[in-house]
This record gives sequence, C-alpha cells and structure tokens, in this order.
Amino acid sequence: MTTIAVIGLGTMGLGIAQTYAAAGFAVLATDAVPEARETALGRLRAGLAPRVRAGKLAQADLDAILARITVVDGPKAMGATDLAIEAVVERMPVKQSLFAALEAVVAPDAVLASNTSSLSMAAMAEGLARPERLLGLHFFNPAPVMKLVELVAHPGTGAAALDRARRLTEAAGKTVIPCPDRPGFIVNRCARPFYGEALAMLEEGRSAAEIDAAMQAAGYPLGPFGLIDLVGADINLAATESLAAAMEGHPRYHVFDALRRQVASGDLGRKTGRGFLYPD
Ligand code: NAD
Repeated sequence: MTTIAVIGLGTMGLGIAQTYAAAGFAVLATDAVPEARETALGRLRAGLAPRVRAGKLAQADLDAILARITVVDGPKAMGATDLAIEAVVERMPVKQSLFAALEAVVAPDAVLASNTSSLSMAAMAEGLARPERLLGLHFFNPAPVMKLVELVAHPGTGAAALDRARRLTEAAGKTVIPCPDRPGFIVNRCARPFYGEALAMLEEGRSAAEIDAAMQAAGYPLGPFGLIDLVGADINLAATESLAAAMEGHPRYHVFDALRRQVASGDLGRKTGRGFLYPD
C-alpha cells in the first residue's frame, strides 16, 4: 500500500493527513510537540463530526479515515513512506534539518515535499544527498477543501519525483498546477498586493470589518482580513517578509506595521481565537 508521511500536525499538516487518508492512502503522521501528536486524531474527529451530523459523511467513513492514520513519534519511524510532506514552521533551517533526518530513513526513491508558502525550493535542496527527489507541494487552507496544490520544482528536481507527487496528489482529488520556484509561487505572489492594499487602508483608518464586507459583497468568498485570520497572521507575516526579502524591498511586497503589530499582539486569528475579525 502507498504510504504518505506528514510532518507537522498544525493547521495544514492535519488537513493534508486527512486529505490523503480520505483518498484511501495509509498515512504516517508526526509533530515535534507531544501534545500535537496526542490530540491529532481527536482534532480530526472533532473537525469532521459536523459533517457526520449533517449527513454528509457516514460515521463508518470517518472511522475509516482515522484508522488509516498512524501517529508516530518522529521522522525516524517514517521509513516506509513513498511521499513525505512537511508542514512545519516556515523556517528554512528547521525544514532542512527535518529533510536530513528523513533522508536517513526513507527509500532512495521516496519523494520529499515541502508545503512551504514562500521559501526557495532550490535553497531547501542544498545539502540533501538526493536533491532530485525534493519538490514543493503547496496545499491551500483548508487543505481537505481547497482543490489547488502548487507543484514546485527546483532546477535539480527529477521527473520521476514530480510524476509520483503529481499522481498521488491527483489521486487525492486535487488540481495540481506546476509553478516556478519563485518567491510566493503563483497564488501567494498575486495575493501580496491584495493583503497589502487592505493593510494600507487599515492604517489609513478604515476598519477591517468594513473592508472585508465590501470585498465579500464584491464576490470574494473571504475578505483580506478574514483570510489573514484563517491562515494565521504569523504565517501571513512570514510569507510577506520572505517575499519582501526575495524581491529586494520592491514596494509591491511592503511589510505593513499593522500586520507586524497584529502578530506582536498574539491575536493570530482562528488558531488563537482572536484576530482582525475574531471573535466578532
Ligand atoms: P502551524 O503553526 O499551524 O503548525 C506547525 C506545526 O509544526 C506545529 O504543530 C508544530 O508543533 C510543528 N513543528 C514545528 N517544528 C517541527 C519540527 N521540526 N518537526 C515536527 N513538527 C514541527 O503552521 P501551519 O499554518 O500548518 O503552516 C505549516 C507550513 O505550511 C508552513 O510552512 C506554512 O508556510 C505552510 N502553509 C500554511 C498555510 C496556512 O494557511 N496556514 C497555507 C499553505 C502553506
């Protein structure tokens, strides 16, 4: 049976684990924080329970999804994987040392993938014994719902790894779009000015609620501040800073103080229960 490994069981990792398990794959899952490991299956069950109550998911199917996920202590227990996807904190050294640990245990043809929003895959591949099997698989939030997955090759990524990652991810019901290994890939790059203009208006005195109300009435399913609350202001700031650095301070990628202040306040959005629009 094909086995997917997921490392990092926060917002994205949990959703990615659910996505592949729901498609019938065996999933090995881990997180550096014991509490995240211990609560992972319970959080998934709680997240899916409303769908069962609404008659959209059979209880037996929920049980089968959870039964396909095995939570393990760490990367050392993930040797049996065909595709390992990391969704840990958006910091290059953390991701690189994780891939070094995975390389030591997985088969030579196992694919290693990063869910990074903004980091360079070429830089991430530096130091790997087999850089040809590293690529980006960028899921969107919430991962079980959003169709798009950006597939990112660095110059040394091999065709076999790309083909395997694409096949397994399409089998999980996703639309896989190849993207250049450029800061922000496609979607996060287009999204920066969207957030930036909203943050500029906030600094000019408009409220987050009125900006979002206008954008939603204009047809966007979520406004810019609703999206920051969903994604996490910390994750949004990390992606914005990463693009600003990579684009050498180009004004399109300006990092607004309003976003920095939001992160400093700890009101990160949905995951902390307070944000630009939360709890209202
Ligand atoms: P998160 O903070 O919700 O979760 C990260 C998890 O990784 C935490 O549970 C943490 O304990 C764990 N972790 C940290 N270091 C670890 C390590 N060395 N080994 C194992 N586990 C470790 O973060 P998130 O929002 O899920 O984001 C994860 C990644 O996905 C980031 O690279 C982010 O840029 C990317 N991403 C996020 C979103 C989003 O909307 N939040 C969307 C697409 C991509």
